Amino acid sequence: MFAAQKLIQMWYDLKQKPCPRCGLPYDRRLHQQCPHCSHLSERETEDLRETTGNHSGSRGIPWSFLALAGIVMVIIFLLKQFV
Ligand SMILES: [Zn+2]
Repeated sequence: MFAAQKLIQMWYDLKQKPCPRCGLPYDRRLHQQCPHCSHLSERETEDLRETTGNHSGSRGIPWSFLALAGIVMVIIFLLKQFV
């Protein structure tokens, strides 16, 4: 059940392309315009990009996720040493 939901979410993410304006992903077959920023002004789009952390081209989230995974693995490794 949970795995199926995850697979559907993955498939849904695959169909989505990041918006060139705000950087948030959306399905271009469902939306002619980006649902996140099409109704916003240039200034408001800038604010949206800052709050979501999507600065042009930078991919901050995967790296911090990898760092977190690395820290968790080190903690598990250390715990195994003491057990
Ligand atoms: Zn957008």
